[in-house]
Amino acid sequence: MRRSGRMREKINERKNSEPMAYDKNNIFAKILRGEVPSFKVYEDDKTLAFMDVMPQAPGHTLVIPKFEAENILDLDPDYASALIRATQKVAAAVKKAFSAPGLMLAQLNGEAAGQTVFHIHMHIIPRSSGVDLKLHAREMEDFEVLKKHAEMIKAAL
Ligand code: AMP
Repeated sequence: MRRSGRMREKINERKNSEPMAYDKNNIFAKILRGEVPSFKVYEDDKTLAFMDVMPQAPGHTLVIPKFEAENILDLDPDYASALIRATQKVAAAVKKAFSAPGLMLAQLNGEAAGQTVFHIHMHIIPRSSGVDLKLHAREMEDFEVLKKHAEMIKAAL
């Protein structure tokens, strides 16, 4: 594929990891504005938690701040602390709902780290010994399953 000079410039901007303006049309910004549906499990004035639609394990949940930040470096400290508080609360419910012996928390910053959605988020993923994770952001889960999992987590909150 031939790329125009402008397109090459844009790709290079991202590759060089220069700070870029927050994209108000990223999918999580749309979820926050209610323009795209999500399987919500928890909400407060500063955060929202919902099911990952391509879970790496059953119960994979995301927590996002209601603040326009691509990554941890851009996040207002008050929202960073609200994000951790909400993550702790939702993680306890995920652990209970899925009887998870372990929990993995992950937060990726920048394309080079594997970030694919550029609104900061925490991943909460149940783990069991000897059970491998599915690949990251690869396989869409059945919406009925996600709905049921969201209900299980809400009941455990
Ligand atoms: P990251 O690669 O850390 O940016 O993670 C982004 C996560 O968002 C991936 O695990 C995706 O499966 C998940 N994801 C992408 N689109 C949606 C969506 N519309 N609703 C819920 N999760 C999503």
